[in-house]
Order: sequence, then structure tokens, then C-alpha cells
Amino acid sequence: MSSEDRRTTSAGSTIETQAPTNGSQKAGAPVSSEAPAHPARRATDRRVADRRSMNRPLPASVLTPPAPPPAPHMDDYAAIVGQVQIDTLRFLAKELRGKTIKMVNSTAVGGGVAEMLNRLVPLLSELEVATHWDVITGGNDFFEITKAFHNALHGTPYELTKSAKDIFLTYNEQNRARMRFDEDLIVIHDPQPAGLICSKATTPAHWVWRCHIDLSNPNPGVWEFLRPFVEQYDAAIFSSQSFARQLPIPQYLFYPCIDPLSEKNKELPESLVQQICDDFGIDRTRPIVTQVSRFDRLKDPVGVVHAYKLAKKYVDCQLVLAGGGASDDPEGAAVLQEVKEAAGNDPDIIILDLPPWCAVQINAIQRASTIIVQKSLKEGFGLTVTEALWKGKPTIAGSVGGIPNQIIHKLTGVLVHSVEGCAFQIRYLLTHPEFARSIGSSGHEHVKENFLMTTNVKRWLLLFRILEQARALRGKAA
Ligand code: UDP
Repeated sequence: MSSEDRRTTSAGSTIETQAPTNGSQKAGAPVSSEAPAHPARRATDRRVADRRSMNRPLPASVLTPPAPPPAPHMDDYAAIVGQVQIDTLRFLAKELRGKTIKMVNSTAVGGGVAEMLNRLVPLLSELEVATHWDVITGGNDFFEITKAFHNALHGTPYELTKSAKDIFLTYNEQNRARMRFDEDLIVIHDPQPAGLICSKATTPAHWVWRCHIDLSNPNPGVWEFLRPFVEQYDAAIFSSQSFARQLPIPQYLFYPCIDPLSEKNKELPESLVQQICDDFGIDRTRPIVTQVSRFDRLKDPVGVVHAYKLAKKYVDCQLVLAGGGASDDPEGAAVLQEVKEAAGNDPDIIILDLPPWCAVQINAIQRASTIIVQKSLKEGFGLTVTEALWKGKPTIAGSVGGIPNQIIHKLTGVLVHSVEGCAFQIRYLLTHPEFARSIGSSGHEHVKENFLMTTNVKRWLLLFRILEQARALRGKAA
């Protein structure tokens, strides 16, 4: 797509659909006779198709952040997870009543960590374990370096320079000077604020490092630089067994989680799903293959475009790439441009560069999708996979990071290792709807058992109690 085709909204976001070619569909050659029957095109489809071709700006409804919805309460989750689970949380919280927690990360919006903290913080507070959330600040130079660290910890080659170390340390020191650490438990998320541990000696708090990224094969230079900070914490938490490192501190496994009552995951009326698809020019009478992700090379959006193009030779479908940026990720614009170039002028590729408050829209797009893809090359855990499984969607995902904890191959989804594998599975799932439905339904159950917010709250309460108890025992022994 040329830059003239792009209409930027006041929010700086656009819908990017490609100009139509000759409007003809590929004939498609289904792999089996199980090909799903899609309703005949409706009269409104022509209007949808017309709107898709116009590169129009985002609908007005998404240009400004919606008013925050009323936060759900603990008891609202009973209908989903059962009253016993809620009673267990209240019981575990009792001994911690009046204690406080501070969560610190590097972005308030965008990405999975912000997504989880948004709900975890009020729920812990409702259990009378008052929880505060602080976001560190930094300039572009800091976030460029921490993004490079992030990629390097995922294994990307990287030459760590003295200047990069200095910038990292300077911003950590600035934030340290600005912040107070009066709480009983301080939780530092990911490497960006890891240097705040230098305040540990000034507080009686427990300090925990919550690492959300895959550290199974880190760039040695970056890991050796960060390791002395990590070793000062009282404990480290990882999202998968395989991410654990040799460390002299206790390590815990916490699966990340989603909130089933959030705007991103709650049930939506069918009419709203339809309206949102119409607004974005997504045709619900034809199969929809979707990836929701920040425009990040490690999410391989260009690989998804190639996989879709291979599959499209055999089955009719549309591709929706819904993404946006995170304030701590400076690479998004360049990756978005690469995606547009790969998409060319296919009218069935819909690229949505969404503002960060579009949770309901993402929910609706996920619910409208026939298949959801998360073709990551590296991944911490992949909350987009959790979200897709929760919605009962047949899901295809890269076999990396924490994704295999969620996708048990051919049972709760399918794992892929290449563009060709991804293309094959798109084609297979679109032509085997019974199998697609069965993995979608098992995926939903798997999330319910393991990856909901209530389970995560339980893990935090247990860890806090373990840390308190260990301190009490140390006190007695002294
Ligand atoms: N997300 C979003 N808008 C976007 C892209 C992603 O709200 O444009 C959300 C997505 O639904 C998920 C989270 O951001 O909840 C991404 O978490 P994940 O663990 O998949 O990846 P991360 O971005 O943390 O690497």
C-alpha cells in the first residue's frame, strides 16, 4: 500500500484495506468434502465490500477511549469458576488483610503485562490486600535499548555496548529516585525496571522479579548484565518451566491469565459483533482468519500474510491482522510498513492499526473469526492464544515460549513451525469444521482450568503467604 492510501485519524490510527484488484475470488479447492457451508452472501455484503475498498479512517466509535466499564467484583466470577474457588481466595487473603503490594512495569497499555495488571490490581485490592501499580518512565533511547534487550533475551544476536548499559542504569536510577517503596511486597515485572532492586536495602519489603519473557536461550551478554540484579530479589517467577535459569533464589511457575469478565473476553451480543465487523469491513459470510498482535517481528505478521496467501490458493478466506503499539515498543511503525508491503493489494487482507483501548473491538473480531492464528517466532506466553482458546476458537500457533503450555497439539489447538505448516493448518481447519470445533471446545476447557484470573490471584496470595512465613521462620531462628 502506498503512503498516499493511508488516512490517519486524529488518534493516529487507520484501517488499512487493500485496493481491490479485479474483484474476482480465487476459486478455491477444498481439501475435503467437509468444507464449511458459509451463508449465501447477503444484500449488505456489497455495501461491506464497497466500504472495504475505500481505505477509510477508523470508525468514530474507536477514536476516543470509552469510559471505563464498572470493574467486576470477586463474586461475579462465581458463575464462571464456581463459588468454592471464590471462597478459597477469600480464605487465603484473610491472613494478608491490611498488607500491601506494589506492581511495577514499563507500560500502562499495550501488551499482555498491562492487560493482566489492569485486572489483578483491583481484585487483590478487593480482597483487602491493597495493591498499587506504578509504571516507570523513560525516553525513546531507554525503550529502544530495553526492546533490544527483550529481543536479545529471546535469543536474537545483539552487541551490548557500554552506552546501552549506561542508558539502562541511568533511567533505572531516575525512576528509583522518583518512586517510593512503602509496600510489603514489591513486584518488578520484566527487565526494564529490574534495576529498581537497588532500593531493596532501604525497605523491609519482599522483592520479587516477575519475568514474562522466554529466558530459555538468552543472549549471554544481556543476561550476564541483568543477572546480578535478578539475584538480589527474594524470588523470581517465570511463565513456563523451560524459562527457569540457574539462580541462587527460589523460582516459581506462574501461568499468565486472562480475565473472562474484561471487555476483551466477556460475552458479546451477536448484534454488536456484527456491527463491529461491518464497521471494519470484515465480511462474516466468508471464513475469517485472524491474528491479533502488536506489530512486532517476533509475532511474525509477515509470515502470517505468506501463510494466508499459500492457503488462499485452495480455500477462500479473509485475513485480519489486528494490532497496535505499546508505549515501550518503538519498532511497531516499521513492522506495520513491512506487513503492508507483504500484503500488496489483496482486498481480502484487512490490516487494523488500532488504538490501545479497542478491547471490545478485538473481542468482537476474535469472536467473529473462523480461525485464530498466533504465528509467533518467540513468545513469552501469548495471551492472545489464551483469549482465542477461551472463545472456543480453533487456534493455530507457533510452537514457542509458553504457547505449548496452552496448545496441546491436535487436542486444544494446533502447533506449527513454519509458514508452510501454518498454511497447511489454515487449509485443514477450514475444510474440517468438526475437528476445528472439537479443538476449540477443548481449548476453552483448558483455559478455564488453568489460565483464568482467579487462578492467578490464588498464586499471588499463596506466594505472598509463603514469603511472609519464610520471614517469620527466619525471625524465629535468629
Ligand atoms: N492487544 C491489544 N491490542 C493490540 C494488540 C494486542 O489489546 O493491538 C492485546 C492482546 O489482546 C493481548 C495482549 O495485548 O491481550 C498481548 O499479549 P501477548 O501475551 O499475546 O503478547 P505481548 O504483546 O505481551 O508480547
